[in-house]
Amino acid sequence: MKRSEGSSPAKPKSFADELEERVTQRTAELTATIEQLKRQLAERQRAKEALREGELFNLIVESIPVPVAITSPTGEVEALNKPTLEYFGKTFEELKGWKSSEVVHPADLERTVAAQMAAHQKGTAYNVESRHRRTDGVYRWFNVLGLPLRDAQGRILHWFHLQIDIDDRKRAEEALRSAERNLSLTINTIPTLIQVSQPDGTVLSVNQAVLDYHGIDLQDVQTEDFRTRVYHPDDVERLREERKEALKRPLQFEYEQRARGKDGKYRWFLVRYNPLLDDQGRIDRWYATAFDIEDRKRAEEALRSAERNLNQIINTIPTHIYVLNIEGSVQYVNQAVMDYTGLSLEDVRQEDYRDRVIHPEDLKRVRAGRLASLRRGAPFSTEQRVLSNDGQYRWFLVRYKPLLDEQGRIVQWYVAAFDIEDRKRAQEEVRRSEAFLAEAQRLTSIGSFSWLVATDELAWSEELYRIYEFDGEIKITLGVIRTRVHPEDLSLYEKMVEQARNGSEDFEWQYRLLMPDQSIKYMHAVAQATRDPSGQLEYIAAVRDVTARRLADEALDKARSELARVARVMSLGALTASIAHEVNQPLSGIITNASTCMRMLDAEPPNVDGARETTKRTIRDGRRAADVITRLRALFTNKDAATELIDLNEATQEVIALSRSELERNRVITRTELAVKLPLVTGDRVQLQQVILNLLRNGSDAMSNVDNRPRDLLFRTEVEEGGWVRLNVQDAGIGFEPQSLDRLFQTFYTTKDDGMGIGLSVSRSIIENHRGRIWATSNQSAGATFSFSIPCVVDGPH
Ligand code: ADP
Repeated sequence: MKRSEGSSPAKPKSFADELEERVTQRTAELTATIEQLKRQLAERQRAKEALREGELFNLIVESIPVPVAITSPTGEVEALNKPTLEYFGKTFEELKGWKSSEVVHPADLERTVAAQMAAHQKGTAYNVESRHRRTDGVYRWFNVLGLPLRDAQGRILHWFHLQIDIDDRKRAEEALRSAERNLSLTINTIPTLIQVSQPDGTVLSVNQAVLDYHGIDLQDVQTEDFRTRVYHPDDVERLREERKEALKRPLQFEYEQRARGKDGKYRWFLVRYNPLLDDQGRIDRWYATAFDIEDRKRAEEALRSAERNLNQIINTIPTHIYVLNIEGSVQYVNQAVMDYTGLSLEDVRQEDYRDRVIHPEDLKRVRAGRLASLRRGAPFSTEQRVLSNDGQYRWFLVRYKPLLDEQGRIVQWYVAAFDIEDRKRAQEEVRRSEAFLAEAQRLTSIGSFSWLVATDELAWSEELYRIYEFDGEIKITLGVIRTRVHPEDLSLYEKMVEQARNGSEDFEWQYRLLMPDQSIKYMHAVAQATRDPSGQLEYIAAVRDVTARRLADEALDKARSELARVARVMSLGALTASIAHEVNQPLSGIITNASTCMRMLDAEPPNVDGARETTKRTIRDGRRAADVITRLRALFTNKDAATELIDLNEATQEVIALSRSELERNRVITRTELAVKLPLVTGDRVQLQQVILNLLRNGSDAMSNVDNRPRDLLFRTEVEEGGWVRLNVQDAGIGFEPQSLDRLFQTFYTTKDDGMGIGLSVSRSIIENHRGRIWATSNQSAGATFSFSIPCVVDGPH
């Protein structure tokens, strides 16, 4: 430090001191030697006055171990001792004219000569430093001491020039100077603020950085209120006692404080005090350095606020968070845990915390899992019930995750627990309702399945497995289902699958299963088309095992058709009896009258009047019989049939609906293609429906033995030109031979074992009664089509 000795570092100072001391010591030694010689000389002068001067000089000169020269009062060289000749490596003769012999450094010559001249004139000693060239050409510094030697009267007899080598000292001095220059330069250019104070803390000096930072000069530093002026008042206050105490101890100490810059703004500094102790270990000086830590402080503050934010987040999220040490003991929990359990962090850190809050039934399982996870250092998750502060347990999903350091070692465990009570409850509810459903399905023999058409994923209910008698393990595919479908219904099954795949409508179908034990099961399926969450077509279907009902129905149907047949036979019998009775009376009358007539004509003379009378009665009875026939026909053709406006579409649909069970039993698939805006017809609804029913039954009968193709029955209505509407009933049955075509509509024509052959003939009379016509055609593929057309109401209300 330029302005203050105190700030010079200890080491260079003591080195310099040492050198100084050495030089001083040697100088003192030499001076003492000279003094001694002077004394000896004086003694000898006194004692041996008679001795020759030359001898004396030689004696003196030769006895001195350093270069010495003797000159006359006028300056001529008189004698040079051996060290002188050796140092310069020259002869006495050569050195006599030393001023021009280049033994003195040219830069020092003038000064040396001047000093000598001045001394010679005044007759006083001189002392000059100059560089002398050694024999090897190296210049070394010498301190040349010139002393006059006087006689008793005080006249100068000779000059005595003693040359002391001070080169080492000179060099040390130079080194010190340059070291000092460097240090000072360093101290004043480094950005660190440096301050030197007295043991009590009073400032002695500061470096340039301090002055620059505060914008003050050195005098300001030494004023009393220096500290309060440049440091933040709060910090001065805060640190006062601490600093005072620390200054008493010979130990390094540090603190942080804000120092005001020349711009008036405070910045944070870390101030570190280092004591410089004296030999006794007492504090001699304090060296204080101050580092600008404003940026670090800011970063710390930013960090702290980030941490505060994080903390806030962690404490406001509803998830329960635990931080465990590597052994698994709780170190920290977030607010959510404390709020939920109603416990403090202290409580949570207790050993028995888990025993207190985890449901006793879960405790053992969870502990085993946790310990295994901690041991292996692997993440772990579990579900457990945790006691809340209101005394209720709720389900939590708990996840353990290790936090690793850079070397991959576990430092801590993070545990996050999510409240899954609601999910658990929902799951439980689903489980329960599924159980209900399964039970309900079992009780009603209804199975269910879902079918995701795009992927053919099928999900079957338990009951459906039971109905199909499939093992619960088996994975259901369309192929697997196929193995159970009755061979006769396979084409139907395939067709349903195809239709369902292409369409997206609800559908319903009946089919049979052929079980491994060759028994048959009747199925009734109703499917509803839906869309799954991704918009894919999915069918949800209920499948009912209707075997039992079917068997009952069949028994019932059989009984019913037998009954119907009996009824039919009976009514026909009754009809026949009534016809016979009605016709019999006139017939027996006719026979009786005809016999009477014969008898009268055979009499002698023939009773012509009587015969005429009897013939009249015969004619009357014949008319009566004809009347009976006419009445009977009227009864059959129902001339007085009710007339009303009829929608043939509606009438057809009604008939189909009424025959549904019969059709199902015969596994007939009905289809309708009904013309829109079909004109109405007038007629007898019941009679027309009787015709439709006849055609439906015949179609169904014709397909009863068809198993190689679907039993399709199509009802199609259409408008014919000229004001007619037509109904076609197209089957896929056995059809008829072309040669039979004429006979189909004849009364009593039948090809069936249990047929009566009156259905089509009655139908024809009904249709003709409606001024229409009925006919049959063979289909191009299989089966026949029976059609009728009747005139329609042209300006009907449709
Ligand atoms: P039944 O039905 O009692 O035989 P129908 O008069 O209704 O009396 O039918 C007469 C006959 O016409 C039938 O026995 C059958 O040979 C033939 N027939 C009727 N409908 C069809 C049909 N759809 N396909 C083939 N033949 C038919």
